[in-house]
Amino acid sequence: MKNIIFIAPPAAGKGTQSAIIEKKYNLPHISTGDILRDEAKKDSELGRYIREVLDSGSLVKDEITYELLYNRLSLDDCKNGYVLDGFPRNIEQAYKYDEILSNLNQELGYVIRLDIDEETLEKRITGRRICEECGTVYNINSDNEKPKVESICDKCGHRLYQRNDDNITSFKHRYDLYMEKTKPLLDYYAKKGILYVINGNDSVESVAKEIDKVLKEGM
Ligand code: AMP
Repeated sequence: MKNIIFIAPPAAGKGTQSAIIEKKYNLPHISTGDILRDEAKKDSELGRYIREVLDSGSLVKDEITYELLYNRLSLDDCKNGYVLDGFPRNIEQAYKYDEILSNLNQELGYVIRLDIDEETLEKRITGRRICEECGTVYNINSDNEKPKVESICDKCGHRLYQRNDDNITSFKHRYDLYMEKTKPLLDYYAKKGILYVINGNDSVESVAKEIDKVLKEGM
């Protein structure tokens, strides 16, 4: 199995779809956002720096992100492929990723773009709730995606939380950054002939089916 990268704006469904692929294809889901959020919990200078950046919706310094990502991709469970969500986010990171792949003797694989309206993203951002234990993502603004019991995970019964950066101000900043820095990467990958475009406005199940078709055809 090849590696898979998602390129899409905040709350487009990268994490949700990555978790589905992780289960179905038995590939580790690597999210730079999750790695950084874990680091931000630490009571250290680095932890405090990352916490501040995450709350503002800006990007963490490249060197810090590279090191954390390189360490994760070097682990044994990535040898047979992985789903990468949240990296690369600008052209410098894309060049760095090519370098990391070559150092680790890994292939680029698939790049999946999720296309989605800004209005839908705003609704998802404000309604997103995440299980503190198993990471399942819910949306209280959608009848199909809200938990059965308010603030409680359907799967494991633990509490749901809202990310500090899931508010309109931070979203606007993250969305602008995506449009300015990340979207241009799509051309970079289109030229390599490995970009697949999926309509992310559809339901979680329909998007998952479309992704499945891409992965099955390309295997
Ligand atoms: P995400 O979970 O992908 O929405 O990422 C949450 C936050 O983590 C972003 O708003 C950034 O502050 C930080 N982050 C995630 N990935 C990267 C990256 N590749 N480079 C720099 N910062 C990142």
